[in-house]
Amino acid sequence: MGLLAEGTALDWPDAQKHAHQVREWGIKQLLQIWNKAKHKERDAMLWGDEIEYLVVKYSKDEPKVLLSLRQADILKALANDQELSDKGGCVPALQDLESQRVDPLPVFHPEFGRFMLEATPGKPWGIGFKELLGVETDMKNRRKIAKDHMHPEEYPITLTTFPRLGVPGVFTDPYYPASGSKLRSQFVPDEIANPHIRFPTLAANIRWRRGRKVQVNVPVFHDEKTPNPWKDPTVNYDLHNWPEDDDVRNGAAPDNFIHMDAMAFGMGSCCLQITFQAKNITEGRRMYDQLSPIGPIMLALTAATPIYKGFLADTDVRWNQISRAVDDRTPEELGEKPLKNNRWRIPKSRYASNSTYISTDARLRPEYLDPNLIIDESIKAELLEGGMDDRLATHFAHLFIRDPIVIFNEDLKELDLTKADHFENIQSTNWQHMRFKPPPPGSDIGWRVEFRPMEIQITDFENAAFAVFMVLITRAILSFDLNFYIPIAKVDENMETAHARDAVLANKFWFRKNPFPSRPMRSGGPSRAGSPNASRPPTPFGPVEDEYALMSVDEIINGAQPDADHDFPGLIPIVESYLDSVNVDVQTRCDLSTYLDLIRMRASGELWTAAKWIRQFVAKHPAYKRDSEVTDQITKDLVSAVVEIGEREQEGKGRGWKDLPVPDVGNLLGGFRSTGCGGS
Ligand code: GLU
Ligand code: MG
Repeated sequence: MGLLAEGTALDWPDAQKHAHQVREWGIKQLLQIWNKAKHKERDAMLWGDEIEYLVVKYSKDEPKVLLSLRQADILKALANDQELSDKGGCVPALQDLESQRVDPLPVFHPEFGRFMLEATPGKPWGIGFKELLGVETDMKNRRKIAKDHMHPEEYPITLTTFPRLGVPGVFTDPYYPASGSKLRSQFVPDEIANPHIRFPTLAANIRWRRGRKVQVNVPVFHDEKTPNPWKDPTVNYDLHNWPEDDDVRNGAAPDNFIHMDAMAFGMGSCCLQITFQAKNITEGRRMYDQLSPIGPIMLALTAATPIYKGFLADTDVRWNQISRAVDDRTPEELGEKPLKNNRWRIPKSRYASNSTYISTDARLRPEYLDPNLIIDESIKAELLEGGMDDRLATHFAHLFIRDPIVIFNEDLKELDLTKADHFENIQSTNWQHMRFKPPPPGSDIGWRVEFRPMEIQITDFENAAFAVFMVLITRAILSFDLNFYIPIAKVDENMETAHARDAVLANKFWFRKNPFPSRPMRSGGPSRAGSPNASRPPTPFGPVEDEYALMSVDEIINGAQPDADHDFPGLIPIVESYLDSVNVDVQTRCDLSTYLDLIRMRASGELWTAAKWIRQFVAKHPAYKRDSEVTDQITKDLVSAVVEIGEREQEGKGRGWKDLPVPDVGNLLGGFRSTGCGGS
């Protein structure tokens, strides 16, 4: 979430009147940035990760685990220590860190939910291999520092969602009743959102623009004793506090779906994001395109979201729920009514998979582009006029079809071209699975690309593994000039596929068969199928359909089986091949392999996703009645297991998880040690 400006936030009817002005000014700011920064060169790639946490209140002696709403106090405590350390004072939380890298301190940020925190490293990471190996310790330190600024019974945990969010009754500490004026949710109180005016206004104006509450329906998982049809028993059809309470009487809560009605059900989810700083704009645009088709694969591999509002869902990831939770499209834009007041029918929510490719790469064929792309032609014309090229102008003219949702009155007085606030207003509320980020004005930051689809993992070992893998595959893409282009429509389809229960093993995804440039790879190229790289055809110019095939995640990550009708080498063998091509000492290579092994084993099914582990945990729990319901007791025991895993991880010193008395922990985490070489 972006910086938090202060001011008077406009209600939707007023905000709407100024939407055009904000877009106009945003485009002027963008052109200013673009003209200043288009030739900007940075020496080396930098990167950073973002970890989002839930804060739970958990005690062995209490029957229930609750979400703690003390975000503001925790952030204040963290900021006080930060100030102390800036002044050279002593920071108690830092005294016993294992890490050599105690300075600079990590940075903690607010997130949408008042029960959430976000933490980033104190400074960006370089791509030195030693730095790659520092990220896990840094993540663990962040968690420790966060924990040290909480009450003893509060824990920062990295489940993507809180299983009992929105269940009638008490699920927060302190308790607040639902049905407030901002969210108008049946299930969650307004106090669930960060109180900074940006967040409740965002939620309220999305609802207001849309003309009804958001509708976050996720299919329920049908177990042996789950009735069919299943009616969400938590829905109250008799509520009459707000006009929006009619939504459920008008069919908002269909049979066989868990029904949720507020932004918090989506934006209250936690993810792992990686941002790369490119050498220059050309490299950034290339990274944006090439990482895009990898997005849905990483979503499936990191799947961790099988429970909503106290029920097992039939999907494994958070993505579509967030998409629906911030979907501000009107009935006209959704195609439910003829266009009258709105300009377009818009096929996707503001939170969705990418709709553009932006690289200047000659291998980007027009057939890959989205034929249904909606753009604002006048904005595109203005960008072209300002000197931007067609492809990038198209990208921003697409993002700028959206209205700004939160507008501060104070910002409308005069246009400040040394700032990016109006541009960011639209840019940062386009939550696509990749984000192309121009340099902030007045900073020495370069062009950046954010990789956004991954779900947060329970341990920092896993989070580090996915971060390191993403960095290495990005290095390999640039170093080997790899080509992962497939049509955007196929990436969209993959994003849907990634939702299926156990998609990582059960489903197939569109992927490009031959990622290599026409010239052979330096090292000869890896291939599970064993076919020599030299025999690969150059990038074909034939029908686009011949370029890609349906593959399992195992094939995409580990390479095609010998009997496959393609010989995709696999992303891990590509990374290994990249590591072969650069100088890495034996110990470092071995340490990196621990992370790559986790990814490899996830893809092959040797290890489970968190989604599968959580499902198994529920299924085996003595209190589970095979009726899809995840009770308070099951939730408490699940959180207890997660806390135990986390404490074991914090103990560090190379100890594994296998002997923890947590069911199936070996299937989730294998025999890995929590830091360093020596994987199982
Ligand atoms: N928590 C959101 C997610 O899970 C992302 C919010 C952000 O962009 O920081 O995708
Ligand atoms: Mg965030």
